[in-house]
Amino acid sequence: VTKRLGIVGGGQLGRMLALAAAPLGIECRFVDPSPEAGARVAAEQLVAAFDDLAALERLAEWSDVVTFEFENVPAAALAAISARATLAPSPRSLEVSQDRLSEKQLFESLGLPVAPYAAVDSSAGLEAALTALGVPAILKTRRLGYDGKGQVRIESQSQAAGAWEEIGGVPAILEGFVEFDREISAIVVRSAGGASVAYPPAENVHRSGILHTSHAPAPGADESLCKRAIDHASAVAEELGHVGTLTVEMFVSGDQLVINELAPRVHNSGHWTLDGAGTSQFENHVRAVAGLPLGAAGPVTETVMVNLVGAMPEPAALLDVSGAHLHDYAKSPRPGRKLGHVNVVALEAGDVTLGGRAGAVAGLADAAWC
Ligand code: AMP
Repeated sequence: VTKRLGIVGGGQLGRMLALAAAPLGIECRFVDPSPEAGARVAAEQLVAAFDDLAALERLAEWSDVVTFEFENVPAAALAAISARATLAPSPRSLEVSQDRLSEKQLFESLGLPVAPYAAVDSSAGLEAALTALGVPAILKTRRLGYDGKGQVRIESQSQAAGAWEEIGGVPAILEGFVEFDREISAIVVRSAGGASVAYPPAENVHRSGILHTSHAPAPGADESLCKRAIDHASAVAEELGHVGTLTVEMFVSGDQLVINELAPRVHNSGHWTLDGAGTSQFENHVRAVAGLPLGAAGPVTETVMVNLVGAMPEPAALLDVSGAHLHDYAKSPRPGRKLGHVNVVALEAGDVTLGGRAGAVAGLADAAWC
């Protein structure tokens, strides 16, 4: 029986995992270097860096199971933890998702559609890749990219040298630019025994590389497209033997899907499930890693999630919108930082006011966004 869950990372994802674990009778402890980590609201903190092996060993020794809120956990840390406690998901899920090239190779090995790409290890290699793939294209570092960081769009062959320098001359991949109509994400949760639960895919809109809104179920996405998106995510989870929540981001072009990337964890585009699903992505992740039965995704209430970035709008103004639920991560404001989100839910089936109410919340969020 899992009573103690260790979490590597105590930002908002760790916070929402710990908040979901509490009603299940599961105590959480986490490692995070920040003395004001948000997960403190529901878990005890070991203040330490993610490469502080002694601290990670202490966490693992206390824990029945250890999970994480971000995929860039150093390999040495993974080894130290898995020598002392069950790590879920397993290191393989992390290792694949830490490297965009191995991620692409995994998708291809499963026959899933990806954008044309080439591995790039030098400025000359980039020139050759641009000749092969054409422009526009996007150069992305293989490791440690997030929220649009570590990537640059290339419009002409002459920009190659500058782009290579801009990403720091590190191993990268070049991707052909996908002319997409919209972006969606599929979230599945898989248990150790192979049972799984899938949420309806959400449509995601980004702003300056940061997720702005997620709308679930994705409006206008037909049933067969949604089913394919979920099947793709399930195939990835199955192949990895993944235990826990897994997110796959995809582009939609007409009736085609192109897989972009995977996150072996709870994801910002699944925050809507806190108020719009029968069991949230966080609770189901905890259930999965703790070896408990998964909860049903439904009933699903149509929801628009709006991120609060940079500065917090007035909470009373947000909550004055009916059907709005505020999730404040209690972080200090800073430009580009995710401080919270609001889930605006439909109040009845086919609620035509959802758009207007979500628009009102987005307006407040946009006015504060920096
Ligand atoms: P990523 O870090 O891979 O999620 O990329 C961040 C954002 O850049 C995506 O959400 C897309 O909006 C855009 N993007 C990334 N790759 C491509 C691509 N191959 N074609 C078009 N847009 C892309």
